[in-house]
Amino acid sequence: MNYQAKDSRYTTMRYNRSGKNGLKLSAVALGLWHNFGGVDVYENARSMVLHAFDHGITHFDLANNYGPPPGSAEENFGRMLKHDLKPYRDEIVISTKAGYYMWAGPYGDWGSRKYLVSSLDQSLKRMGLEYVDIFYHHRPDPETPLEETMQALDQIVRSGKALYVGLSNYSAEQTAAASAILRQLGTPCMIHQPSYNMFNRWVEDGLLATLADQGIGCIAFSPLAQGLLTDRYLQGIPGDSRAAKAHGFLKPAHITDSALAKVAKLNDLAQNRGQTLAQMALAWVLCHPTMTSVLIGASRIAQIDDALAALTGLNFSTEELTAIETVLGE
Ligand code: NDP
Repeated sequence: MNYQAKDSRYTTMRYNRSGKNGLKLSAVALGLWHNFGGVDVYENARSMVLHAFDHGITHFDLANNYGPPPGSAEENFGRMLKHDLKPYRDEIVISTKAGYYMWAGPYGDWGSRKYLVSSLDQSLKRMGLEYVDIFYHHRPDPETPLEETMQALDQIVRSGKALYVGLSNYSAEQTAAASAILRQLGTPCMIHQPSYNMFNRWVEDGLLATLADQGIGCIAFSPLAQGLLTDRYLQGIPGDSRAAKAHGFLKPAHITDSALAKVAKLNDLAQNRGQTLAQMALAWVLCHPTMTSVLIGASRIAQIDDALAALTGLNFSTEELTAIETVLGE
C-alpha cells in the first residue's frame, strides 16, 4: 500500500539548530548502521524508518559501508526513498560518509580526494539520489594531507553532490585544523559526529568546547553505548540482541560485570525519574548545550518510541546529575 506520512508528524519533535548554521535537525536522528542491511528483514527496516518519519525524525544517517554487506543499508534506504519517501525528499536530511574500508586497492579507504569523490558517487547511485544533505569524512586519515581531504569535501559541495559537510571521529585539535581550512575554502564544517554517552565521555575533554567555539553542531552517535545503557542486558544476553549477533559491533566481552553493576544502579535512578534507562541516557546526552541531536540505532519500533519519549523529560536536578556522576565514578 502507498505510504502516506502522518499529518501529525511535526507536533512533538524538537528541532535544534546545528551550531550556528542554518540547518535544524530533529533532536532524535535514526542511524542505519545495524538492522537495516541486506542480512536484515527489509519490512522491519522499512517500518522503523517510516515510523520515525511519522513522528518527526527528519534525519537519517548512513555510511558507504553500513550493512552487512557493505552498501546494502544505502540500497535498502534507496528502495524506501523510491517507493515510500520520494514525495517527502525535501522534508528529509540524509547523511552519508566515507573514510573506512569500502573496496579493495589503494582508493577504497581513508581520506584521499580519489576515494571520497568516487565513494559518494557510489552512495548516490545506491540511494538513487542526486545529492545528500550532509557528507562526512568518517575518520581522520593520518597519511593524506588534511588540505586534500578538506578540498575534496569543498569540491563535493561545489559540484552539488552534498549540501553540507561534516567530520566524524576527529579529535578537538584535528577538528580545529580542519575547520580552519574548510572556512578558508568557503565550505564551513556544519556538524561533527563523535561517540558520546555516559560510559564514553572523551568529547568533554576539548571537543565540545571547540565545536561551540567554531559554531559547529554536534550529533552524538551510540548514545546508548550500543544498547548497554538500557535494560537490555540486565538479565543476560538476549538471543535477538546486538551482542548476540555475529556481525554486531557490541561483543559479549563488552558486557562486563562492572558495567552491568552501574547499569543496574542507573536503571534505578531512571525509574526514580519516571523514565526508562534508555530515556534517561538520551536525555543526559541531549541536555548538554552544544548537543544538536542524539543519533540512535534501533532494532524495533518500540525502541524508537522509547527514544521519542525521552524528549518529555530532558531536565535534570543537580541532585540527579550528582547521583549519576557517583554511579559512573564507582
Ligand atoms: P545506540 O547506542 O542508540 O544503540 C542502538 C541499539 O541499542 C539498538 O540497536 C538496540 O539494540 C539497543 N536499543 C535501542 N533502544 C533501546 C531501548 N529503548 N531499550 C533497549 N535496547 C535498546 O546507537 P548505535 O550504536 O546503533 O549507533 C547509532 C547510529 O550512530 C548508527 O546507526 C550510525 O548511524 C551512527 N554511528 C556512527 C559511527 C561513526 O563512526 N560516525 C559509529 C557508530 C555509529 P538491539 O539490536 O540489541 O535491540
